[in-house]
Amino acid sequence: MSATIIDGKAFAAKVRGQVAEHVARLKAEHGITPGLAVVLVGEDPASQVYVRSKGKQTVEAGMNSFERKLPAETSEADLLAVVQALNADPAVHGILVQLPLPGHMNSDLVINAIDPAKDVDGFHISNVGLLGTGQKSMVPCTPLGCLMLLRDHLGSLSGLNAVVVGRSNIVGKPMAQLLLGDSCTVTIAHSRTKDLAAVCRSADILVAAVGRAEMIPGDWVKPGATVIDVGINRIERDGKTKLVGDVDFASAVEVAGAITPVPGGVGPMTIACLLANTLTAACRANGLPEPEGLTA
Ligand code: NDP
Repeated sequence: MSATIIDGKAFAAKVRGQVAEHVARLKAEHGITPGLAVVLVGEDPASQVYVRSKGKQTVEAGMNSFERKLPAETSEADLLAVVQALNADPAVHGILVQLPLPGHMNSDLVINAIDPAKDVDGFHISNVGLLGTGQKSMVPCTPLGCLMLLRDHLGSLSGLNAVVVGRSNIVGKPMAQLLLGDSCTVTIAHSRTKDLAAVCRSADILVAAVGRAEMIPGDWVKPGATVIDVGINRIERDGKTKLVGDVDFASAVEVAGAITPVPGGVGPMTIACLLANTLTAACRANGLPEPEGLTA
């Protein structure tokens, strides 16, 4: 039996549509246009592509997009001054500093200089603490996207065994917090986990966020499990460059109940959730109700 393929591309388009509808209503009823500022330091080609894509989708959702492009040799003090100016700008509801930053900068210091209410990446220490204590926060976009896909597919997640493979601050840890918030029994696995295969086989929900191409084979998947593959890995196969996930899709699709493909699964949800977070930030900043279904 073959798993249901969770179409993240279609779901992300639906989320962007919902964001655009809310934005139109905010403008019409309250004269508010949410604004997202993206700060890019240096010329990393992958970061440039992401920033362009974020700007385009922000405008398509009816929001204002502000881009601050700074040369790689910008001092940390100058970057902090840009962040402070954006913090103080009432037209800016969301601020994202594109990572990685050049080596001479302290990323933690820069991220923690962002007003937590505008921290649409959810990486500020205050937002991490709020999420960890089950309080209203800004939630990191990729795990939020995974949660939305899971809720859409499964309905209630309560009581399910969830295994998150990977413990990074941007994916693994916040993903585990969100699953705990939805009353899953959560295990976080990592490079030192003993018998990872057995741990994975216990999962009703298996989230792979490792960064190793096709490392989780189908026989690590519990029959009927829901598999969320966050990995984006570039490999050479049959003389072509291909994107693959952390899960071996061909074998896992035969065992799982549902699975996200790579590409077209989690990937498109990240920017959709960035737009959702910007809208949420604009609503909170103006004391308005938050958009339903677009937050954790
Ligand atoms: P990190 O490199 O920060 O973290 C990887 C995690 O995987 C670490 O916790 C590491 O464990 C663990 N790990 C590494 N090797 C193994 C192993 N053999 N067995 C078990 N665990 C292992 O990666 P990120 O969290 O930033 O990203 C993970 C993947 O998700 C990447 O492919 C990335 O490209 C993708 N990604 C996709 C996004 C999207 O929009 N779809 C957004 C962000 C990331 P340890 O801590 O012990 O070293």
